[in-house]
Amino acid sequence: MSKPWTYLPSKGEAKALEVDRAFYERLAGEVGARALVEEFVIPIRSGRAWPVRAGQLCRVVTIEGPQVADFNAWNLHNPRERFWAARTRQLESTHLTTFNRLWSTLPYLRPMLTITNETIQYGEDEDGGRCHDLLGTRCDPYVNKLLTGEEFDYNCHSNLTRAILPYRLTELDVHDVLNIFQVTGLLPNGKYFMKASPAKRGDFFEFFAEIDLLCAISTCPGGDLSVPLWGPDAGDPLPTCRPLGIEVYQPAPESLEGWTSPRPADYAGNHGMEWPVFGA
Ligand SMILES: [Zn+2]
Repeated sequence: MSKPWTYLPSKGEAKALEVDRAFYERLAGEVGARALVEEFVIPIRSGRAWPVRAGQLCRVVTIEGPQVADFNAWNLHNPRERFWAARTRQLESTHLTTFNRLWSTLPYLRPMLTITNETIQYGEDEDGGRCHDLLGTRCDPYVNKLLTGEEFDYNCHSNLTRAILPYRLTELDVHDVLNIFQVTGLLPNGKYFMKASPAKRGDFFEFFAEIDLLCAISTCPGGDLSVPLWGPDAGDPLPTCRPLGIEVYQPAPESLEGWTSPRPADYAGNHGMEWPVFGA
């Protein structure tokens, strides 16, 4: 059996994945020193997009009880740079918690946001389940029709599509999500599973925007996922659907001292192409 290995920086690049925990811990703790910029509620089976500027904090709150949130993020000024779930899974983990970051797509590859606090702190359960899922993705009307034969227009993919229309984005801009407040894992045979969300009223997931972001959330029509959406035990999850609260905060300027917004990756970008040499 060969030894497992993972994504780690090589010698000399030790800081590549380093997170200044003291900075984010202080930021998370200085609740009195931040100003509320925006606050709104996303109703059940709905979606909304909103900007979070670099240096601001954002909270997703289970204001009435457990509810899963399907989260997307783009560079506010360039939607080609968006959250890259697969690479984040490799660089961070299959499930995210405080101090994990969301990384952006190529050719940018930089931390888009850093999780500053999340009140679930689920760890690992007896089935290997963990919270804030990066293994799966959003529910969508195409797979839904495949599995049920029925048309349904309020899956997370559609909710996100409607949410981003005012920003001139389309269905093709919706990408693999972070499933906030969602517990998932892999069975011993490798199959993906979901469980009821452990969130309680007032739990939150808070992050710090490293760059100017356009964020979007769908309040999953599966609600808290305590009722299977598909399969032999499928039921009606509507009674388990709850709204989510969003809060955006501006920290005090002194709280941001020492922080700089990360630059895109500095690979030269030639991909092996060479220019002709004249007169040699
Ligand atoms: Zn969903």
